[in-house]
Amino acid sequence: TAEGTPPLRVEGLQKSFEGIRAVDGASFSVEAGTLTGMIGPNGAGKSTTFDCITGFHTPDGGTVELDGRPITGHAPHEIAQAGLVRTFQIARELEEMTVLENLMLAPQHQLGEGMWRAVLPGSRGRRSVAASERELRETVWETLDRFELSHLADEYAGTLSGGQRKLLELARALLADPDVLLLDEPLAGVNPTLEKRLLERIEDLRADGHTFLLVEHDMDVIMTHCDRVIVMNQGDVLVEGPPETVRTNEQVIEAYLGG
Ligand code: ADP
Ligand code: MG
Repeated sequence: TAEGTPPLRVEGLQKSFEGIRAVDGASFSVEAGTLTGMIGPNGAGKSTTFDCITGFHTPDGGTVELDGRPITGHAPHEIAQAGLVRTFQIARELEEMTVLENLMLAPQHQLGEGMWRAVLPGSRGRRSVAASERELRETVWETLDRFELSHLADEYAGTLSGGQRKLLELARALLADPDVLLLDEPLAGVNPTLEKRLLERIEDLRADGHTFLLVEHDMDVIMTHCDRVIVMNQGDVLVEGPPETVRTNEQVIEAYLGG
């Protein structure tokens, strides 16, 4: 990463659905090693922004850069391979696999069929995706330990609690060895004990140099854990700054209370 280049930069992003401007010119950057929160009322365009960044929607306009390189409109697996990964809800077919199997399959799943073998030599020049099944297995067990999921390794994913699933989703995303992680409401339906564990893991990962962009409704979580906060409203960025500035911003209070 070039000095001073933000890992993620979004400029003038636009996406409409049948005339509805879901994202309407949003521009923002996410700085390296931060936990950046994204908040805003329902329908503000947060999820659509994530979908455009990660290649699940093709934006109508604007650019997305990862480490200064354009990724606008690239396929999701290419974006994952380039180092930007989002968490996914555990899909139905994965509910019928064990926690261990979910993690063994995770990198292939994130990178797309066929990409897995293609990237084995570690094309990204960092800790490469595990070079053999044995190495992958070791990495998976380390990850299970780190997330305190080892005792659940042989359980079917479909039997996990809401919070355990969220931990597994984060663990799966991590196995693609991302620089930047996008989390859309990772704490929804999570009990306080597991919420604390998830936030601790996110903070450890930030300390390891990962960068996070997180959509979260719980203002206490945003204000306590985030370094920066981006407030979206009606498809655009209303305010961006440190939590204490955002909390007291009159436009932000208006957007939430003004309905
Ligand atoms: P948020 O995540 O902030 O709640 P979204 O990005 O989900 O907001 O939605 C922004 C706007 O775009 C809303 O008006 C929503 O109804 C609309 N929208 C989102 N996805 C679609 C879609 N696939 N088709 C049509 N409209 C959509
Ligand atoms: Mg949303």
